[in-house]
Amino acid sequence: MSKVNRDEILSILAKYDKNDITIATLGSHTSLHILKGAKKEGFKTAVVCEKGREVPYQRFKVADEYIIVDKFRDIVNEDVQEQLRAMNSIVIPHGSFVAYAGLDRIENDFNVPMFGNRDILRWEAERDLERQMMMESDIRMPLKFDNSEDIDRTVMVKFPGARGGKGYFVASSKEEFDTKIANMLEREWIEEDDVPKAHIEEYVSGTNFCIHYFYSVLNDEVELLGMDSRFESNIDGLVRIPAKDQLDIGLDPSYVITGNHPVVMRESLLPQVFDIGDKLVESAKKLVKPGMNGPFCLQTMCTDNLEIVTFEMSARTDGGTNTFMNGSAYSYLLFEEEMSMGQRIAREIKNAISEDKVDDLIT
Ligand code: ADP
Repeated sequence: MSKVNRDEILSILAKYDKNDITIATLGSHTSLHILKGAKKEGFKTAVVCEKGREVPYQRFKVADEYIIVDKFRDIVNEDVQEQLRAMNSIVIPHGSFVAYAGLDRIENDFNVPMFGNRDILRWEAERDLERQMMMESDIRMPLKFDNSEDIDRTVMVKFPGARGGKGYFVASSKEEFDTKIANMLEREWIEEDDVPKAHIEEYVSGTNFCIHYFYSVLNDEVELLGMDSRFESNIDGLVRIPAKDQLDIGLDPSYVITGNHPVVMRESLLPQVFDIGDKLVESAKKLVKPGMNGPFCLQTMCTDNLEIVTFEMSARTDGGTNTFMNGSAYSYLLFEEEMSMGQRIAREIKNAISEDKVDDLIT
C-alpha cells in the first residue's frame, strides 16, 4: 500500500474544469446540508448512495447525480472513484464516510480530491493521537487513568471507535469497574477484545456543549458557526425517574446518541470557546500539515466552575451540524444569512476558485 500522494491529487485537480466542479459526498451523516449548501453556492452535487437509501436525497432534492453502490464502503472502489473524477468532484468527508470507507483506504487508495486535510482524520479517530493534539494545544481534557487499579473517583469508561456511546459506563472503584465490564460482556455490548482497550477517564459533571467551528484557510480565521447538545438514550430517560426509583429498577445507564438539539452558551463563556478553537488550529498546523482546514468540532462539558472541559474532537463536519441546516444564532452573527456548515464549505471552495487557490483546500 502506498499513501495517496498530494502531488497526484493536485495534478488530478489541475485537469478539472474549475467552472464545472461537482461537490460530492457519501449519502449519510451530514450529507443533506453539505449537498444543499453546495447547491446554494451554485455547484452541481453528487451523492454516493447505498442501494435503498436514496429517499431523503430525492425527497429533499439535494442531489443532481446519484452513484448507487451496494455498500457504503464501495465509495473507495476504483469504478466509483473514476465516476467521481469524471464529474470533477471534490469530496467532502464526514463521520460516516470515515467509518465506512475506512481510514486506511482513505489514506492509501482514495485518489479523488478531498476537501480539508485527509491526514488529520486519523488524529481524531485514535484516542492517543487525539489526546496528544489536545495536550499540545493546552486544552483542558478529563484526567486519564492507565489502569483500573488506579480508579479513585467517578470515571467514565469508553471503548475504541465512535460507537455512539454504546457500552460506555460510569464506575467509582476497581470493583465496580469489574462488575460492569462483566455485565457489558454478558449483554454483548462489548467483546473480550475490547476489555484491554477500555479507556478510563475522569467523569466530568456538567452540561454538554458540542462546539462547531470552521477554520478558513483563505481568511486565516477560526469561525464559530454553531453549537448543539445531544439526546442520549437511555441516560436522558433515566434522569426523569426519581433517584429512589432508579435504585429500585436497577437500570444501567447508557449514552447512545439518538439526536441533537441546538443550544447557545452563556455569553461570558465565549472567550474560552474562541481560545480553545484558536489553540487547536495552531497546534494542528504544527502536528499534521496543512492543519485543521475546514470544519471541526470540540465536544465539551461545562462544569459549575464555568470551566469548559473537552472530551472529544472531530476534525471534519460533526453530526451536530445538522442542528443548523438553516443557520444558527452564531452563524447569523457572522453572515446575516442562513449559513449551514455545508454551505460554509461550499462558499470557501467557491471563493478559492475565484482567487485561484483551490490547491490550498484540497488533499
Ligand atoms: P462517541 O464518540 O462514541 O459518540 P463520546 O466520547 O462522545 O462517545 O461520549 C458519549 C457521551 O458520553 C457524551 O456525549 C457525554 O454525554 C458523555 N461523556 C463522554 N465523556 C465524558 C466525561 N469525561 N465525563 C462525563 N460525560 C462524558
